[in-house]
Amino acid sequence: MNTVRTTAALRALDAAHHLHPFTNARELNAQGVRIIESARGVYLTDSDGQKILDGMSGLWCSTLGYGRREILDAVTKQMEVLPFYNTFFKTSHPPVIQLSKRLAEVTPSQFNHFMFTGSGSESNDTIFRLVRYYWDLVGQPDKTVFISRHNSYHGSTVAAASLGGLSAMHKQGGLPIPGIVHAPQPAWWAEGGDMSPDSFGLHVARQTLDMIDEIGADKVAAMFAEPIQGAGGVIIPPATYWPELSKGLKERDILLISDEVICGFGRTGHWFGCELMNTQPDFMTLAKGITSGYIPLGAVAVSDRIASALLAHGDEFAHGFTYSGHPAACAAALATLDIMQSEDVVRRVHDDIGPYLQEKWRSLAEHPMIGEATMEGLIGSFQFCADKQARTTFPASANIGLAARDFSFDNGLVMRAVGDRMVIAPPFVLSRGEVDELISKASQTIDQTYQHARKLGLIA
Ligand SMILES: *Cc1c(COP(=O)(O)O)cnc(C)c1O
Repeated sequence: MNTVRTTAALRALDAAHHLHPFTNARELNAQGVRIIESARGVYLTDSDGQKILDGMSGLWCSTLGYGRREILDAVTKQMEVLPFYNTFFKTSHPPVIQLSKRLAEVTPSQFNHFMFTGSGSESNDTIFRLVRYYWDLVGQPDKTVFISRHNSYHGSTVAAASLGGLSAMHKQGGLPIPGIVHAPQPAWWAEGGDMSPDSFGLHVARQTLDMIDEIGADKVAAMFAEPIQGAGGVIIPPATYWPELSKGLKERDILLISDEVICGFGRTGHWFGCELMNTQPDFMTLAKGITSGYIPLGAVAVSDRIASALLAHGDEFAHGFTYSGHPAACAAALATLDIMQSEDVVRRVHDDIGPYLQEKWRSLAEHPMIGEATMEGLIGSFQFCADKQARTTFPASANIGLAARDFSFDNGLVMRAVGDRMVIAPPFVLSRGEVDELISKASQTIDQTYQHARKLGLIA
């Protein structure tokens, strides 16, 4: 009784005073919010005591699971010694110095300099300014245009939301800002038509390069892209896409920004997604898994090419955040890196738990309603469809994905819905037993969604 009353009271207060991100407040308040009270390992517990397997690592970020004593202790200790100091006025502190050095060790060899922020969005806004400043410094001030992609996600600040390719975001607040051109996404299932995945990958890469040539490569500064699009529905590009595109960008001297906010720090079974795709970016956007989500932190990895220009003839880069390199956040990141290295977490994702989940996940596509089920490392998705052969989808108004998300939550598994694509990105520490549970709950969800679609008359 007591818990029920508490849940109701918390819901009422939440409805009265809390505006949620990416949420229709009216609809949420009518339904009532779900309150997550605690978490351990890969499980969440809500205010009614239901235990839920967190298939999304919070919001792609809680990579090492919940309740890691090493991270808590590191943060507490840092808070006691130095809870805050800024890094603006010729000052620094041990955690930010150590973290910069450690990041230089784990990132690809061209990255030896890091600038810190509070989030992925702030990191992308930082890169947006830094790229234009770089071209100005090296005497090519006309290189100002950015290429990014439809259906990509780069964050919610003004430049990041403009770079992102989500039209619902552009509609609010008069975005995108000028100077950004959106290229097609390598989403074969949805957009590949009669082409094979490999031909489609080449086709989209060449379309992108053609767009650049039309603008004039001498006017194009850089391309922003996630190695695997996350919030767009976990779109794993065909194998031909990145080699063709990154070669074309290099030939045209267009900088590449690899937005590693989701793919970085082990998610794909490599330290960074660009290593899986074999691209050589000039910048990386870092956040989320950098602290395993325990404390907000973002970073910009700056390659030697850019850093050497800044160091050689740059002026003050007039940019930064109060919390750039916050000591407690840096301590959380250092503890995260310690665990990743001492437990060989990236190898575990690549060789052990990743392949174990992938095999079972891909077999979900045997269901008549599942068009494809794909996964790389521990990031994957499956697509609900009306007709597998013709690759046709359900009407958006049927909200099949949202229905499945609710079934899944009630079954005790968090999966996210992106249209009619269901997405997972579980913590790297999940056990084989927890994988089995995840798959059985996902199968149950698919069966329930199938019955639901039949009742709606969407499937014969
Ligand atoms: C989440 C995300 C961001 C934005 O990060 P925030 O910390 O939410 O600002 C940027 N890029 C990608 C790929 C993301 O998934």
